[in-house]
Amino acid sequence: MQDLQDYPTLNFQHLDTLWLQVTGTLCNLACLHCFISCGPKNDNHPMMSLSLIKDTLKAAATQGTREYYFTGGEPFLHPEIKEIISLTLAQGPLTILTNAILIDDEMASWLAKTFEDSPYSFDLRVSLDGTTPEENDTIRGRGTFVQIIAAIERLVGHGLNPVITVTTCHAELAADEGRQKFIELLKAHNITQPRLKFLMPFKIGRESRRKGGEGCYTPAERLYLEDVPDPNSDHLQCDSCRMVTAHGVWPCPILIEEEGARMSDALEDSLHPIKLNYSACYTCHVGGVSCKT
Ligand code: SF4
Ligand code: SF4
Repeated sequence: MQDLQDYPTLNFQHLDTLWLQVTGTLCNLACLHCFISCGPKNDNHPMMSLSLIKDTLKAAATQGTREYYFTGGEPFLHPEIKEIISLTLAQGPLTILTNAILIDDEMASWLAKTFEDSPYSFDLRVSLDGTTPEENDTIRGRGTFVQIIAAIERLVGHGLNPVITVTTCHAELAADEGRQKFIELLKAHNITQPRLKFLMPFKIGRESRRKGGEGCYTPAERLYLEDVPDPNSDHLQCDSCRMVTAHGVWPCPILIEEEGARMSDALEDSLHPIKLNYSACYTCHVGGVSCKT
């Protein structure tokens, strides 16, 4: 059994990136690899109210935050998502992580217009976990490949070019051949300049239960002092980001369901060093994983 002092400390540099869990853990899908077990019935973290989002944006501006990310859950489930996007883009660049299924033609058109008019960069990241229905739907649910591709086509039809995010549950997708298949798939759907991001799965949440528990971290898959000897190391996103949900502030988007990871009620009280004592930290360190684009 390790003590907290056996794990590395990471100093906080500056609040470059603020993540907002705008719809909490509510999602229209319930993907088998979801590291925070989101789904239609998971309201462990409820939707953030518009007033909480406004207060959070104000606090973030005070800290000189440089960029914003929305994730969930599914951000487009939020009934006030357009106002939230507009408010955020008034103060900095924004990226939204989405499965895109709820983006209908009207929303795609509004997003394209907002993209055109915004003083700051605005990007969408659409998750897709295979180049065929068989590959994707075993992870994301039956019928989702067709729905996600249709949503990508709607976005492309309105002139947007989302980043396609692939979680490499099928390890071969991360290899050159797998990447090439994605490029060909996207080109076949009129994306002339495909943008792809590959992420290793975090073996927590629902992913830890996939394949009957085989996906869990082993006791050796933890970080120790010798792994990150310099507390000013800058290879992990949590030296310069925080995540806000309706229930408070966490170090990053990955740990919001990990017991003990909650940092504070207010953003300004969370800007201090953290201990890298969670198994998911191993994936960030070893895999070089950052949720940022
Ligand atoms: S991985 Fe994304 S789309 Fe799937 S359940 Fe989790 S939040 Fe929803
Ligand atoms: S899970 Fe990753 S981003 Fe989160 S605290 Fe650990 S190392 Fe940092």
